[in-house]
Amino acid sequence: MPAPLPRLEDLPDLRGARVLVRAELNAPLEQGRVSDDLRITTTIPTIEWLRERGAAVALAAHLGRPKGEVRGEFSLAPVAERLGALLGTEVPLAPSATGAATAALVASLGEGEVLMLENLRFDPGEEGNDPAFAANLVAPFDLYVNEAFGASHRAHASIVGPPRVLPSAAGLLLRREVEVLGGLLDAPERPFVAVLGGSKVSDKLGVIDALLERCDTILVGGAMAFTFLAAQGHPVGDSLLEADRVEDCRRLLATGRVEVPVDVVIAQEIAEDADHEVVGAGAIPDGWKGLDVGPETAAIFADRIATARTVLWNGPMGVFEVAPFAGGTLTVAEAVAECPGFTVIGGGDSAAAVRRMGLASSIDHVSTGGGASLELLELGDLPGLAALRLGRDA
Ligand code: ADP
Ligand code: MG
Repeated sequence: MPAPLPRLEDLPDLRGARVLVRAELNAPLEQGRVSDDLRITTTIPTIEWLRERGAAVALAAHLGRPKGEVRGEFSLAPVAERLGALLGTEVPLAPSATGAATAALVASLGEGEVLMLENLRFDPGEEGNDPAFAANLVAPFDLYVNEAFGASHRAHASIVGPPRVLPSAAGLLLRREVEVLGGLLDAPERPFVAVLGGSKVSDKLGVIDALLERCDTILVGGAMAFTFLAAQGHPVGDSLLEADRVEDCRRLLATGRVEVPVDVVIAQEIAEDADHEVVGAGAIPDGWKGLDVGPETAAIFADRIATARTVLWNGPMGVFEVAPFAGGTLTVAEAVAECPGFTVIGGGDSAAAVRRMGLASSIDHVSTGGGASLELLELGDLPGLAALRLGRDA
């Protein structure tokens, strides 16, 4: 791992300071209200840490994909409202992320007060990493905190711009994410078992390569298992297959440390009431698709997990959103929750699965960043972290 990140404790003169906090508040909405406030609650310790020391806090965040246009359905108003309720204080919403009206609101903030800036992605300068947008964004502020781990793999203006200009630090959650995920790369206790699933093997080849250098065994489930099964010469029916990755999978299998399913749950369609059955991994008929690992595979994976000292899990074992195909993910989730070793979950859908199953509190660390956690494991660093480390030397 590269040098440590600047910490909140290292920020100068907090009392009366105006702090721009880039947060990950991309919460799901239903009928204009926040339906899952995990991303808001996990940001609160850093906000409170700053408020307790007399800082005024303005939160900058994105919501959805407004693609550089002001679109009401992507307003952060519902997030500001929920944050205010959780903090027990008023959190007004500035009309935009930059501009004179916003600067005036920031200037009027008193010690401990909190303001939310409107969606960064209403301005094309955010995703375009436009220096002029970054300059306007930081103008009213004295300090910058990056608490947006889940966005730190993107070289967007609010992530990489402010540290060049303002004294900056990593938020508490960002620091924890980097300590935990970086620790997996540096000095994991062995045996170290990685469980990988989810949709696309092409998304995860890089991380498999990086993990193979550190871990003892990689257990593969999810849709990506079928490209591995094809690499073993099995027919996969209508299962998801990335034909151009079969060769990569063959190379990974040759290490002898990648384990693939021995049985699978198959169906002809993805539906709650679909006819489904369990077959051997080499016996998927034409016209059927593999949608979950079978019970024998799930039991083998659970055994491997039970004796591991370190477990990293990314990606569900099947289409867990649909009941007949949730069994493998449930068995693996229970095994990870019961494992006495150090357990980490990275990946948006796997984290959601564990929360839905009520098992999140039995896991040592559930990462808040899907793509960011994979990229950190693969590359050992992220643009947003590098920007914090370089600071105003950049
Ligand atoms: P994560 O967000 O945890 O990294 P991914 O985004 O890579 O996971 O993949 C999650 C998706 O993969 C889920 O929506 C799930 O339904 C899907 N999936 C898992 N197994 C299969 C399968 N066998 N066939 C089709 N889709 C699958
Ligand atoms: Mg996902």
